[in-house]
Amino acid sequence: MNAPRAASAPQEAPGAVDWARVRADFPLLHRAVHDKPLIYFDNANTAQKPTAVIEAVDGYYRRFNANVSRAVHQLGTEATEAYEGARKRLARLLNVRADELVLCSGTTFAINLVAYSWALPRLGPGDTILVSRMEHHANIVPWQLVAERTGAAIRVAEIHEDGTLDREALARAMTPDVRLFAVAHVSNLLGTVNPVRELCREARRRGIVTVVDGSQAVPHRPVDVAAIGCDFYAFTGHKMLGPTGTGALWARREHLETMPPFIGGGEMIREVSFEGTVYNDPPHRFEAGTPNIAGFVGLTAAADYLDAIGLERIEAREAELLAHLTEALDAEDGVRILGRAPDKAAVVSFLVDGAHAHDLATLLDLEGVAIRSGQHCAHPLLQFYGVAATCRASLAFYNTHEEIDAFMAALRKVRRLLG
Ligand code: PLP
Repeated sequence: MNAPRAASAPQEAPGAVDWARVRADFPLLHRAVHDKPLIYFDNANTAQKPTAVIEAVDGYYRRFNANVSRAVHQLGTEATEAYEGARKRLARLLNVRADELVLCSGTTFAINLVAYSWALPRLGPGDTILVSRMEHHANIVPWQLVAERTGAAIRVAEIHEDGTLDREALARAMTPDVRLFAVAHVSNLLGTVNPVRELCREARRRGIVTVVDGSQAVPHRPVDVAAIGCDFYAFTGHKMLGPTGTGALWARREHLETMPPFIGGGEMIREVSFEGTVYNDPPHRFEAGTPNIAGFVGLTAAADYLDAIGLERIEAREAELLAHLTEALDAEDGVRILGRAPDKAAVVSFLVDGAHAHDLATLLDLEGVAIRSGQHCAHPLLQFYGVAATCRASLAFYNTHEEIDAFMAALRKVRRLLG
C-alpha cells in the first residue's frame, strides 16, 4: 500500500498552520446543501474525512484486501500488518501499550465490553456504580444493564449549573461500596472538559475502577492516557476523522488478563474442541470475528493526519472558534447557552426563546447549515436543566470564522421566519 498521504497541512513556521489548505483536504466540505454552501457544525456527531483517509480505505480495497490473522498468503500478511499497524499507531497517539488496546467498533462497544466482561462477573448486591450526570447514553445504559443483572446500584455524580462536576458532592459520593466510576473526558452536550487525571486519582485512591469515555476528547486535544491514570479509556474512530465502525478500548493489562471474553468466535481463540476452548491472549481475546480492516486502515491515516497538524494546534484553533461562536451567540437576544465550564471544548448547546430546537435546525438546514437538535443521547443531562431539547453547534479545526458569521446570519433569518 502507498503510505497514507500525510496531512497537507503546511507548517510554514512552528505553530503556524494554513487552515485554508487544511480545509481543502476535506472534499465534502465543498459541496452545497439546498443550493447554499455547506456549513458543517455537527462535528460532535461525526467528523468529515480528509482525502488521506478516503484514499487509504480505497487503497486497501484496491491493493491488499484479505482477512486478517488467518491466511498465510501475501495479501493476508499485508492486511494483518496493516490491522496490527493501526493498533500500534493508535497506541502511539494515546501513549499506551499496543497490547493493551482492544480494537472494536467504537465507544459503545468498548464500554459494553467493560460492562459485560469486567463488571458483570464482579459486581453484586451492595456494590455501587457511580456515573456522572453528563454522560452520553453509551456510558449510562450499559451500567444500568449491569445493575439490573447483578443487583448493584447506580449513583449519579451531580453537576453544577455551569456544567462542571460538583467535586464536593463527588468526593462524598465515593463511598466504600462504589466499585466503578464512569465519566466523560469531554461532554458531548456541554463541551465540559473534565479534569480526568484528578478524578481518576481520587477514585483509584479509594480502590474505585475508572472508565473514561474519550469520544469527544481524542479528536480535539492531545490525550495521554497513561498520564490520566484511568483503568479503561474508550474512544471512537468516526469522530476523529476515521471511518465509522472503528474505535478502541484501552485497558490496564491486569484487567484484560482477568476478563473473560465478551463475544465468542474466530480470532479470539487459541484452540477449540467440544471438550473446551482455550482463549487467545488479550487484546485478541476480545476481538472475535472479522474486524473492520478497511476502517482501521483509514483510522491509521486519520491518526497520521491529526498528528501531522498537531493536536495542540487543533486545540488552540478550536478554542479560537469557540470563543468567536460563544461571543456571537451571547450577543443575541433570547439565546441561552447551556454549559459554561472554564475548560470547554468547541461544543455549544443553546436554546432560543420561542423556537423549538428541531424547527430551528430544520430551517437552518435550508440555509445550508448542519447542526444537531434534540437530546443528544443525554436525556439525564437535559432533565437536570429542565429542557426538552437543545440545538448544538459543534466545531472542528476545519471550520472557519466566516462560517460562524454566516451561521449567525442564518440563525437571525430563521428566527425572523419563526416570528
Ligand atoms: N460517548 C460520547 C461522549 C459520544 O459523544 C458518543 C457519540 O456521540 C458516544 C459515546 C458513542 O459513540 P459511538 O456511537 O461511536 O459508539
